[in-house]
Formats: sequence, structure tokens, C-alpha cells
Amino acid sequence: MEQTKILLPEDEIPKAWYNIQADLPSPLDPPLNPQTGEPIGPDALAPIFPMELIKQEVSQERWIPIPEEVREVYRLWRPTPLYRAVRLERALKTPARIYFKWEGVSPPGSHKPNTAVAQAYYNMREGVQRLTTETGAGQWGSSLAFATMLFDLKCTVYMVKVSYEQKPYRRILMETWGAECLPSPSDRTNYGRRVLQEDPNCPGSLGIAISEAIEDAATHEDTKYSLGSVLNHVLLHQTVVGLEAKKQLEQVDEYPDVIFGCVGGGSNFAGLCFPFLADKLTGKRPELRAVSCEPKACPTLTRGPYTYDHGDAAGLTPLLKMYTLGHTFVPPPIHAGGLRYHGDAPLLCKLTKEGYMEAVAYHQNEVFEAARLFARAEGFVVAPETAHAIKAVVDEALRCKQTGEEKVILFNNSGHGLLDLAAWDAFLRKKLIDYELPEKMIEEALKRLPKSGGGS
Ligand SMILES: *Cc1c(COP(=O)(O)O)cnc(C)c1O
Repeated sequence: MEQTKILLPEDEIPKAWYNIQADLPSPLDPPLNPQTGEPIGPDALAPIFPMELIKQEVSQERWIPIPEEVREVYRLWRPTPLYRAVRLERALKTPARIYFKWEGVSPPGSHKPNTAVAQAYYNMREGVQRLTTETGAGQWGSSLAFATMLFDLKCTVYMVKVSYEQKPYRRILMETWGAECLPSPSDRTNYGRRVLQEDPNCPGSLGIAISEAIEDAATHEDTKYSLGSVLNHVLLHQTVVGLEAKKQLEQVDEYPDVIFGCVGGGSNFAGLCFPFLADKLTGKRPELRAVSCEPKACPTLTRGPYTYDHGDAAGLTPLLKMYTLGHTFVPPPIHAGGLRYHGDAPLLCKLTKEGYMEAVAYHQNEVFEAARLFARAEGFVVAPETAHAIKAVVDEALRCKQTGEEKVILFNNSGHGLLDLAAWDAFLRKKLIDYELPEKMIEEALKRLPKSGGGS
């Protein structure tokens, strides 16, 4: 009988995060000031982020120590289990061996608290009293609510109004953990009041919610802003996932041939694959493949150009070099809300551009079909985001069945779907729509890319 659940003792929770910037073949292109087109210095970020996170954002050190207080909180659910999906292998009749890291065991149910906890800690250390953020469906908002509670910080979450009204469960989680959750546009900020004046029934958008959260932080001395994906320091914090997985695979004498993960902003997948990609970048594992899985309704890596763009829909943030569909691109309303982002993490984009990573895109029905197969084989009902990675895993395992290859496949099971059952219901009742994006729609959005910066 194969070992199906590979555990680590608590003292094997990593003591340092892995910073892939130290091993890049060339440095990242710097963020640019949208007004001047000049690189922005760390000082420009000081009004909204604590100094320690700004330092991590630009650090070239390979290892960044994890504070003991953060490891103490990680201990609530880390190390997370690594599973071998033997029942899925059997169902697919594949000679491949499939492993997954299970991040759904955290209290909010996903990988997101790995960074939320670190961010709350550094803010607390620097005397910050309150954090603001935006949230769509609420995965990030609830993770930050959980993390701020543990370090006695206040938390204000601007939640897109339609989600606030239609998806109450994660709002209830946020309130249970003591955060204040406001439907955005709200009357709390100048920007929100202006939007409401023009349209009192505005359903809100992530762009509006980001603008409100940043304005709130920038106009209050004791308040900072927090982001749940995309930025270098967020990806850094997520590397606990891959560092643990590496040790767990060593225990059973395995190393992956190919790693899959879903990509919205890129944090869960980078967290799993960067510690392995270190071996590819340093020439030890040249054959290793890392494949990002994204929705065809928001095909950033597979159809977007690699160029400078704003990180947010409102056009407030510095310009980041990334694959992007244009910051004004509004993806169709697929159920994997966490994958509806116009860009991707600059680190992941650079590694993709330089050929160290690949990307694939899928429609939501085929994605849910694969996740249903997984649920019926392995039991876990995953988040619609995670289901994209499972589709890629199933396809790869079936290719191995044809060729007879005994590949080792690893993927990040980024979160459970127990608060996404409405999406599962829509799938089961055959009400899910597959959106085919016309090239024209992408071209239109790309016309509104910022002028400064230039593309490639
Ligand atoms: C938010 C979320 C994602 C997408 O975000 P990344 O930064 O790309 O990881 C993926 N899976 C789950 C479960 C999420 O909550």
C-alpha cells in the first residue's frame, strides 16, 4: 500500500522564506511612476506599506528569516499535508504518480493566510493600528480579517457591493473574526462618495474597492494597506508551501517532473513552484516543467502582451512589467473569481517570458468536470480556482497513460470549495457558460494600456 498522506513535524515549518530574486538570470524590471515613466523608489510606497515589507519587495537576499511569532501562528495549520492521489491515479488508469499540497486546512480555507499573517505581523511591529484592503468574493478579505485578529489590529475590508449582497458567507467570516466589512462604493471615502453621487445603485468593482482602500490608508496616519497577491513580498511568503512540499517529497524519494497550479495573481503557484524552480535556475534540474493554469475567460499569460501596466483597474498603482490584458479589461463573470485579474505577478511573468515557466488556459465547464472527477476519487471539493490546476493534472496523467511514462506530477490544491457551492450547483445543473473571448475585445482593452513604459 502506497503512503497517501505525507506529514512533517511542526518543527519542520520553514525558518526562512525563499526569495527567487536572488537566482534570477537578470533583475526584475523596476516598477515605474505612471506620471514620469521613471523607476519609483521604495520611499514612494512608505505611506501605504510598512518598511519591512518594502524591503522584502526589493530584497536580493536568497533567504529571509520567518519571525518566530509568524511561525507560531503558522503552527495552527502548518505544515500542511502532502497527499499522493492514488485513487485519482487508479480512476485515470495512469502510470503517473500524482501528488498535491493541501492548503485548504487553514482556518479561512486557502493558502492566502500564509501572507496575511506575515503582513499583519510586520504592520503590528511598526505600530500600525489598522489595515485596509479590498476583496471580491471575500477569500482575501477573510484571510486578512483572520490575520489581523491574531495581532490585535483593526481591519477594514472594502467588498465589491454585488458580492457583498450575493455572497454573504465570507462577509460573515470577516465579521466573525472582528473585521469591518463595507459594501463598496461606500460613503467612507471621497472616491466612494463621488461614485455614489453619480450612480447611487453602482454595483461596485474591484477597481473602485482598491481605490477606496488605498485612499483610506493614505489619509489615516495609523493605517496601512495590504495586498493579497501579485507583489514580490506576497509570493515570497507563499514559498512555505513549496519548501514544505520539497521536504515531503524527499521523504518518499520523489522529485516532480511537472508542477501545476492555478494562477490569478500568481501567489499560490509561485509559492509551490519557486523553491523547485531554484533547481532549474541553477542548472540542477533543467528538465523540470512548471505550468500556470488560467481561465480562457481571462487569458493573461496565454493571450496578453508582456508590457508595463497598472496593477489596479483604477490606474492608481505604479506600472508593473507583466503579461496583461490591460487594466481596464473586465473579464466575463466566471465563478473562479480569484482568477479574474487582468495581470499577473511580475516575477512569474518574467520567468514565463524567459522560458522557465509555461501556461495553459481552460473553459470553466471542463475545469469543473475535472474537479468533480477529483472529488469523486479523492473526496475533496475544491475551489473553482483550484479546479483549473486539476484539469491540467488530469490531462497530463492521461497523456502519461498513452505514452506509458511514469511521470511525477505535483500540484497546489490551493483551497476548498465549501463556500463556493453555488458555483458547483450551477455546474451540476448545467448552467455554466463557457466564454469564448473574441480577439477584438482583447484588442480594445489593450488600446487603453498606459503610454509610458513601452512594451516588448
Ligand atoms: C485567491 C485564490 C487563488 C488565486 O490567487 P493567486 O494569487 O493566483 O494564488 C487561487 N486559489 C484560491 C483557493 C484562492 O482563494
